[in-house]
Amino acid sequence: MAEIILEKVTKRFPDGALAVKDVDLAIADGEFVILVGPSGCGKSTTLNMIAGLEDITHGSLRIGDRVVNDLAPKERDVAMVFQSYALYPHMSVRENMGFPLRLAKVDKGTINAKVEEAARILDLTDHLDRKPANLSGGQRQRVAMGRAIVRDPKAFLMDEPLSNLDAKLRVQMRTQISRLQRRLGTTTVYVTHDQTEAMTLGDRVVVMRQGLVQQVGTPAELYDHPRNLFVAGFIGSPAMNFLNATLEDGALRSPLGDLSLDDRMRQVLERRNAPREVIVGLRPEAFEDASLSRDRDRGGMFRGGPERPVFTATVDVLESLGSDVYIYFTAEGGPAKTAELEELATDSGLRDTGAEAGQIVARLDAATRAREGHPVELQIDMSKAHVFDPATGENLT
Ligand code: ATP
Repeated sequence: MAEIILEKVTKRFPDGALAVKDVDLAIADGEFVILVGPSGCGKSTTLNMIAGLEDITHGSLRIGDRVVNDLAPKERDVAMVFQSYALYPHMSVRENMGFPLRLAKVDKGTINAKVEEAARILDLTDHLDRKPANLSGGQRQRVAMGRAIVRDPKAFLMDEPLSNLDAKLRVQMRTQISRLQRRLGTTTVYVTHDQTEAMTLGDRVVVMRQGLVQQVGTPAELYDHPRNLFVAGFIGSPAMNFLNATLEDGALRSPLGDLSLDDRMRQVLERRNAPREVIVGLRPEAFEDASLSRDRDRGGMFRGGPERPVFTATVDVLESLGSDVYIYFTAEGGPAKTAELEELATDSGLRDTGAEAGQIVARLDAATRAREGHPVELQIDMSKAHVFDPATGENLT
């Protein structure tokens, strides 16, 4: 069994910086777990502690059936894949891939067999005699993976292995890594700051912020049930919209008008003692073009009504993606602001939203008749709304 168990793992650097705080994490044998979060949140430090490249200040780290806190990296039987690939330029692909086995004094025949098997899996057979300089970025990345595979380690540890590749190749390699991991069934811990990578690659995702684990869950759990404002804003692209609102008479008074709550939501908020002033979170897909819904429901009942409040917005910007259309509009009173949201917004590399500060983004069906500069009637599916406590950031719904 190669499960990886972290118990209260903490890292304090000699200069006093507390990079990782009391991280508890149980990674199952064969699981693919992604550590994600903004720059400086402690994800690389966590991975380096698992690899043995950083020592653990306190807490316990177990790989398989051994506590490895005090074991050197090479005794941990894990293979690291770095962003830089760290290939030896003077060695061929074959020599690069076989290198860890040569170090371990494995016999030549076995090395050859393992390298050839890995090359076959990674589609590198025709390149075994080339030098890294004569390979594409994607091929180099695969050689780095191959060097990890040949060792047949207990776990793969990957630190942003795709970040040196262009966008198209990154998507291709993402699919390959995911397929490879499933095929080999090797426990994998993968660090990225890219939430799309996190959402598409892993069985489970660990969202970190300022050295603390914010939430651990499947991609769907994080998307549909983010525990707090930070996770809600970090996961999803374009990001969730946040609005200040006042909870009054079972409705939310918001810059988009009064948003009524269904019974379930009302009861949950009551039970959790929601404050009067809250933040409402609406993903872009919580909005619909009301006139399209009306057309569709012709003959049936228009699904407007209390749980689907309707309002009119003026389209500032329209982006057509073919399958969907994103519209950006301004809400009077503007989006909500908190420390978490500010942090997310300033770390602009995290999100590829076209929204400017203060804009709300809605994802509409491509059939929408919305036009830039014109009003559009929108309705909100309140069953998809989230309500947050602005003081704690906690998701109350
Ligand atoms: P990035 O995506 O930018 O690599 P990260 O989430 O991987 O970020 P870490 O590299 O783990 O973050 O760093 C976590 C924190 O620890 C940061 O505040 C960083 O400045 C600090 N840190 C990292 N290495 C050291 C070190 N050797 N000495 C002191 N502080 C460090």
